[in-house]
This record gives sequence, structure tokens and C-alpha cells, in this order.
Amino acid sequence: MRAHEAGAIHGEYGHSPSWLRPPVDVNDLLPQLWARTVRRGDDGYLQVGGVSVAALAEEFGTPAYIVDEADFRHRLAEFRDAFAEAFGPGSGQVYYAGKAFLCKAVARWVAEAGVNLDVCTEGELAVALAAGFPAERLTFHGNNKSGAELAAALRAGVGRIVLDSFDEIDRLTGLARDTGSTPDVLIRTKVGVEAHTHEYIATAHEDQKFGMSLPSAAEAARRVIGDGVLRLRGLHSHIGSQIFDTTAFEVAARRVIGLHQRIQAEHDVTLPQLCLGGGFGMAYTTQDDPASPAALAGELRKIVDHECAALGIPVPVISVEPGRAICGPSTFTLYRVGTVKPVDLDGGRVRSYVSVDGGMSDNLRTALYDASYSATLASRTSDAAPVLARIVGKHCESGDIVVKDEFLPADVTPGDLVAVPGTGAYCRSMASNYNHVPRPPVIAVADGRARVVVRRESVDDLLRLDVG
Ligand SMILES: *Cc1c(COP(=O)(O)O)cnc(C)c1O
Repeated sequence: MRAHEAGAIHGEYGHSPSWLRPPVDVNDLLPQLWARTVRRGDDGYLQVGGVSVAALAEEFGTPAYIVDEADFRHRLAEFRDAFAEAFGPGSGQVYYAGKAFLCKAVARWVAEAGVNLDVCTEGELAVALAAGFPAERLTFHGNNKSGAELAAALRAGVGRIVLDSFDEIDRLTGLARDTGSTPDVLIRTKVGVEAHTHEYIATAHEDQKFGMSLPSAAEAARRVIGDGVLRLRGLHSHIGSQIFDTTAFEVAARRVIGLHQRIQAEHDVTLPQLCLGGGFGMAYTTQDDPASPAALAGELRKIVDHECAALGIPVPVISVEPGRAICGPSTFTLYRVGTVKPVDLDGGRVRSYVSVDGGMSDNLRTALYDASYSATLASRTSDAAPVLARIVGKHCESGDIVVKDEFLPADVTPGDLVAVPGTGAYCRSMASNYNHVPRPPVIAVADGRARVVVRRESVDDLLRLDVG
């Protein structure tokens, strides 16, 4: 078991661009970073779903999130099939983590793929229900669900509610009694494993807000079973995000399956379900090399089989909750360049600051997590030499960086379009109105057609909320 300092873990997000080398040809699109239908046309413009970004920028403006619908649907199907195959039909279930990105169109794609859906607020629940998503295929998450949210979940008849605290057990038990309902629940455990990118830490105590320690979760199970109001279906564990190998899942699974077995033995019950969470990694830069869903499902099957066999218990129905691995790679953000400013660095090097018409309001991840992204000139090819560039936004904040380090052609100029891939997860969903900048639209493209699925905000939208 490897243990690492938190600093070392976050270093993996790419503080150091020492790995960064100019690509052989800056005009090339690296397939692992782009949605499946993205190509560069003969005219130099990127195309997606058979539509040129020239037409997209003209019709919908910039910045805009451009979703390759076929790519999104393909990843849903890939996860669904991989887990059904590895665990058996019905025994390996996928829940798309809606917090990564949810709108009505996405909820319909998820429903049509036969994939289930995680929501964690009344707002996400409302989007799912507005799209006609079947409530019994929803899981409701959250460490501080309000009474109103729990009541809405019960009214809707969501399939499962994941309990996160004793307070919530009391709250939900009271509501269920009052309304005569018997909701299915999981208990979220903290297994003392925290994973990020290629590293994880396993500790005895976990200083974070989600879930219940193993002894607390055992006590929670006692209360739920003792009350006989909520129907305990199993345990839940989610260990982090942007995880690339299954070692951390192995440690987590050993601990959570151990508790699963102890609860079954203590109460002489069968817990039919076990959720292992999400966090499967995706490629933001060439440094990321995610496993296929099939490889991942196969590994998890081996881990679960091994732990269950060691304890002599049957394998429960396993669920997973991928978010970014499904929606992240499907989308790129299309920006227009406004200013270009060369800045002298130490040692005579120069970095080109390329300012675009969005920024930390449409992609907070770089500022929030020191996340790495890549980018390409999207409106033409160029024979100019590559220069080290930093793509920055238009906000009043020097940390307003979209792409920290990327090589772009030296002749990038105001008016050019730039595309940043891998922005489908946690970009629109975390977007803000900082500096009163309206949030960009989400445009779905498929089979030569583009349509708005979330419209662009307007200044009127902003003023409408400002009733003073
Ligand atoms: C955020 C979250 C996920 C999804 O994480 P990704 O990194 O997007 O896969 C899954 N389950 C839970 C409980 C989460 O909080």
C-alpha cells in the first residue's frame, strides 16, 4: 500500500510543464483528447458531427460548449455494456453522475441508453423529472439534503437515497413515517481511501465531510434496520476523482465489503446492493491514459469476486457512478481570441498570453484544482513555429487561466477560434456569472445538425434576478 503526501498528489495535476514539448505538428488533433467525430476539415476549421466550427461560431456565437452527441451516447453505451458484461445482466449497473453535467437533453440520452442517474439536489432532481427520467432509476445523493429535498425525493419515488449522516437518518425516517413510504436506502461509508489521478492515500481517519466512518456506518445500519421504516439495500463508497488505476478501489472494496459482510451477519439480512462510486479518469492532456470501461469493469469484477470469496458471501449487485468519464471527453469549448500578449519569462523565453472571450466563469477547474487542459487553433492550420502559450480569460483575476501551458502557432491572432477539449464535465455545471458575464450555451451536434440544448444567458437574464 502506498501512502503519499497530499502535496505530491496535487503535483500530479501538472504544476510542472517539464513534460511539455512542442508537438510534431501543432495542427494535429490527438485522438485521445477529442470527441469521436471531431476532425480538421480541408479548410482548416475543426468539424464536429459533420458541422464546421465556422458555422457554429456564426450561428451560436462564442464562447460555447460544443457537445458531440454521438460521442456522449457512445460512452454511455460503452459503460453500460462493460458492466453488464463483467457482472452479468442486471448485476453490474451504471449510474451517470449528473453533477458532472446535466440538462434535459442529457437526461434523455441517459434514459435512452438504459443507464441510471445520480442527482444530489432538488434542482438536479427537477431537471431529471422534467426530462421524463424514470424516478425509480434515480439515486439521490448529498451530505446535507434538506427536508424539502428529501420530501421531493419521496414524492417523486426515487429508486434509492444515499444516507450520509445520523441527522439525515432521523429526518428521512420521520418523513417516511409521515408519508407512509418505505424508501430504499444505501449508507455512504468513508473507507479511509482518497484517490486522485495516479496516487491515493489510505488513512485510518478521514478529515472530510462525506460519508460515515465504518463504525458509524455499522451503527447507522443498526438504527435503520431497528426502525424498520427505511429499507437498507446496501453500502456506498466513493473514493475520489480522476482515478487511473484500480489499486485504490481494491483497498476501498476490501473495507466496504468487510462491513457489508459484518452487517449481514449481525442482523441476519442480505444486502442486495453495493455501490463503488465513480471517479474514473479521463484524458485532459497527453499525460492521461484512462483504461477502457471494459478493462475497468473486468478489474472491479476480479476485486469484488476476490473479496466476497474470501468472506464466503455472494456477490451483491454492483453499481458504479461515472461522471466525467462519460461527459468530459464529449465536449469542447469554442472561444474567440481577443488579444495576444507576449510576456518575457526567465531565461529569455517568451510565453504568449492568448486572451479568449470566456474564462474562469465557464471553466473553473484550472483555477480551482490547478487542472490541466490542452487547446488547438480551431479556425485554420498554420505553418508558424509553435510557441508556448497560456490561454486566459477576460475576468479581473490573474488566476483566470483556462489552459496553463500549450503550444500554439506563433501567428495566433485576434479573431482566431481556439478550441479546448475535455470540457464536458464540471465546466458548465460549475459555471458562474463572475463579473456579470452571462454563461455560454451548450450546443449538441450530431449527423450534420446543431441545436441549442442550453441557451446562452443574456444580460437581461442577469438583470431579471436583480430586483433591487
Ligand atoms: C462526483 C461523484 C461521482 C462522479 O465523479 P466523476 O469523477 O465525475 O466520475 C460519483 N459519485 C459520487 C458520490 C460523487 O460525489
